[in-house]
Amino acid sequence: MASVNDALYCVNHPHRETLLRCNRCGRPVCMDCMQLTDVGYRCKDCISQVRSSFYTAHALDYPIAALVSFGISAIAAPIAGLLAASLGFWGFWIAFLVGPAAGGLLAEIIRQVVGRRRGRYLWLIASAGTVFGVIAGNIGLLLWAGMFPLLHLPMLLFLALALSTVYARLR
Ligand SMILES: [Zn+2]
Ligand SMILES: [Zn+2]
Repeated sequence: MASVNDALYCVNHPHRETLLRCNRCGRPVCMDCMQLTDVGYRCKDCISQVRSSFYTAHALDYPIAALVSFGISAIAAPIAGLLAASLGFWGFWIAFLVGPAAGGLLAEIIRQVVGRRRGRYLWLIASAGTVFGVIAGNIGLLLWAGMFPLLHLPMLLFLALALSTVYARLR
């Protein structure tokens, strides 16, 4: 038989006795105030807290991510493009090998500069920054050396692989 001390009352309904506790905050809650999640029974407060704390990016993180991805791609794209173009057939293999690594490196740099915070649209901003950076870098190279390596297939493959890696890492 449960003594008075053992009885738990729902934090939202002080007169409703319950046997359940939220597995995150430990507060007693009744069946109505409880929800089954992937990680067990939790109170509604905790569920909404976890949900809103998943995306932690600050407003400033987006322009920073855009600038960093733009800057890096604007510098790296002409170099990668020249390499891929000069390697001819081998450019495809290099693109296959280096594309995902380059995208992973870029994603990691972006994660560092935004303090590892997560943002719902971070991957989109970073991808857009990368695309514009690559285009800007190629236009620069066109003006400077009359070359536009972006139109070479290995370069497009390289870009596609790098972008899909950025998406996967920052999503
Ligand atoms: Zn809770
Ligand atoms: Zn309740």
